Amino acid sequence: MKDIRNLTLDELKTEIENLGEARYRASQIFEWLHVKLVRDFDEMSNLSKDLRNKLKNNYEISNLKPVRVSESKIDSTKKFLFETPDGNFIESVWMQYHHGNSVCISSQIGCRMGCRFCASTIDGLERSLTSAEMLEQIYEIIRITGEKVSNVVVMGMGEPMDNYDNVIKFVKLLTCKDGLNISGRSVTVSTCGIVPMMKKFAEEGLQVTLALSLHAPNDAKRRELMPIANSYSIKECLEACDYYFEKTGRRVSYEYALVSGVNDNDEEAEELIKLLKGHNGHVNLIPVNPLKERDYKRSDKSRIFAFQNKLEKNGINVTIRREMGKDIDGACGQLRRRHNEEAPGVLS
Ligand code: SAH
Repeated sequence: MKDIRNLTLDELKTEIENLGEARYRASQIFEWLHVKLVRDFDEMSNLSKDLRNKLKNNYEISNLKPVRVSESKIDSTKKFLFETPDGNFIESVWMQYHHGNSVCISSQIGCRMGCRFCASTIDGLERSLTSAEMLEQIYEIIRITGEKVSNVVVMGMGEPMDNYDNVIKFVKLLTCKDGLNISGRSVTVSTCGIVPMMKKFAEEGLQVTLALSLHAPNDAKRRELMPIANSYSIKECLEACDYYFEKTGRRVSYEYALVSGVNDNDEEAEELIKLLKGHNGHVNLIPVNPLKERDYKRSDKSRIFAFQNKLEKNGINVTIRREMGKDIDGACGQLRRRHNEEAPGVLS
């Protein structure tokens, strides 16, 4: 059965009409699902029993079962491991900033992009998530924490541009004024650089921020770290980012994970400066989270600051990503991986 939360309000109106009901019922149902966040048709108290039964016979509201919640002792970051109805695990993170609460969601179960430093991709792609499953990560976190969410980043497991249609619909539902109504400007979608999809994304008329995982100042180095660099050059990625800016007016964020001795020396900083000069954007430096499966190490603090200074002095907007929840398996895919290795299905 299909999850009713995969439908936009317009689609729901059409389907409700086809069930022989008045269109305005769709707005009531949409509010129950996306504002009041109920997960049971019987809680929709302003609908007749007959309509509730019709809904039950035609749709489902699938859930995600929280199997592990870890809370950081350093900051209040919470990391959630959810189990999907088909027995897979995905992770999401809740972070508290002074400007509001942010949720980082997964877009796929696993990933097939193969980035060397990333835990999500080690066992490949299991499947893509539906729009409803992406929404439900946020909805369930709101139910559990009782807090509002103002920012959403699609930077958990998976490659959003490899699950394009579901991600677009997810963004539309999330930013819908009749739903959670999160501002498009408060949503960030991060990609490893699937160029044709980035261009398509620019034409959707959305106001979201696009982040490009760059991680290297030249193609040779990027190919060592990211297999996708064999398909698209940095030049093509940057052209797609410029096109994104041209179409949306939104400046792109360039993610750069600093790996000790791999992409963090002065020459590489200079190469990066030359590369990004004249492009509208901002560099986000991420101290890499080491994986035990690989021997990559994070750059030490003085190297990170030296790299940042060089960029800054040369007129590049740059920030160092604040590390959140460092003590609870920080980076993408690491909590799920530990869980799968230790004791699948065990609660802690
Ligand atoms: N597939 C998308 C989004 C998911 S990853 C993408 O590639 O952008 C979100 C960000 O975390 C990406 O920039 C990714 O390269 C980075 N990342 C993955 N593993 C990491 C690690 N071990 N340490 C630091 N950053 C990591």
